[in-house]
Amino acid sequence: MKTALPAWLADGHRHIWLPYTQMKTAAAPMPVVRTQGTHIELADGRILIDGIASWWTACHGYNHPHIAQAVRAQLDSLPHVMFGGLAHEPALTLARRLCGLLGPGLERVFFTESGSVSVEVALKMAMQYWFNQDEPQRRRIVAFRGGYHGDTFGTMAVCDPGVGMHAAFDGAVPRQDLHELPTDDARAEALDAWLRGHADHVAALLVEPLVQGAGGMRMHAPAVLARLREMADRHGILLIFDEIFTGFGRTGTMFAFEQASVRPDIVTLSKALTGGTLPLAATVASRRVFEGFWSDDPAHALMHGPTYMGNALACAAALASLDLFETEPRLAQVRGIERALRDGLAPCKALPHVRDVRVQGAIGAVELDRAPDRAALCRAFLDAGAWIRPLGSVVYLTPAFVMPPEELRRLTDAVCTVLAAPPA
Ligand SMILES: *Cc1c(COP(=O)(O)O)cnc(C)c1O
Repeated sequence: MKTALPAWLADGHRHIWLPYTQMKTAAAPMPVVRTQGTHIELADGRILIDGIASWWTACHGYNHPHIAQAVRAQLDSLPHVMFGGLAHEPALTLARRLCGLLGPGLERVFFTESGSVSVEVALKMAMQYWFNQDEPQRRRIVAFRGGYHGDTFGTMAVCDPGVGMHAAFDGAVPRQDLHELPTDDARAEALDAWLRGHADHVAALLVEPLVQGAGGMRMHAPAVLARLREMADRHGILLIFDEIFTGFGRTGTMFAFEQASVRPDIVTLSKALTGGTLPLAATVASRRVFEGFWSDDPAHALMHGPTYMGNALACAAALASLDLFETEPRLAQVRGIERALRDGLAPCKALPHVRDVRVQGAIGAVELDRAPDRAALCRAFLDAGAWIRPLGSVVYLTPAFVMPPEELRRLTDAVCTVLAAPPA
């Protein structure tokens, strides 16, 4: 095994600023030289089984030839043109196909380049919808404890502050209204009572349906979403589902909201949209929301437009990714992963410091009593050949949907073994 770190790492590390990282104390990141399928190859020749699918994006595994081919062909013909005044087939076809998948009512797609920005656009759509209806006082967004919606200023305001790690910006971030998810009758009544007093200043409710991802893979029943839809309708406010994590099969259905048989007014998509290859996000609005902007007044237009909006390479990758949901048995694979995660993580329930083990679709989470030493835990997983990184006190697996059973078994075994004898 080669041991020397590559020169680009040593030379470049002095000039890079890494995400969520105390640069002084954190170990240098591991040099990756190649990806393939469910594997990450390091510079020293080690091959890791990826338990995270690169922040939940690489749902078909890495380097899928169908996506690679589509992006290559797009690169040769039309990599990018501005989206103001110009249109191209990949973006418009992708918009049509996304609406077809989302089902009736969700009709208009606004493309951006990151999940956070797609949530920003959803918030702007909701607020301006009311502004255009002569209700400009509806500025508040109701979001939920445990939620995460991004790192930009507008989205920080709708994150659970404990999840979003945003204390450094207190005072600069607009305050929004954070509530408990209505997971039982008492909480539903509390939220409803609050809405009775404040609904005329509320633009929208915002929630991650079924699973709050970055907040620690917190899961709730579909009935919670039905309650939120019902409350939104009763109080005449919009409902936004942030499906950036849950969308594209992760929870067992193409979109999580399908399991609740309710539909949002606005939905945000990103992460697995391009199968983990290129940055792209979408904010999809219902006919009602879109019609709120349909007017002879230029001031009623949606005032947003990222430079790289509707990037043709990213749209081509997304179209190819959608093809794979049709040509390969993705949702059946997710059902298989769900069974494997349930079986494979079950032994963790007996461990003394384990608070909860939960599974939904291709998401398996083991919640510990308290946050472990993440670096030590990561090293133990690396020794087991697995790429796994806890979120606070939650150790989780979100594998690619194509992961074969024997690799899933190696991941769940690694979690069980490492947590049974956690590193000091
Ligand atoms: C990751 C995530 C975001 C933010 O997406 P970025 O692309 O990182 O900006 C927003 N909402 C949810 C639910 C996410 O999981």
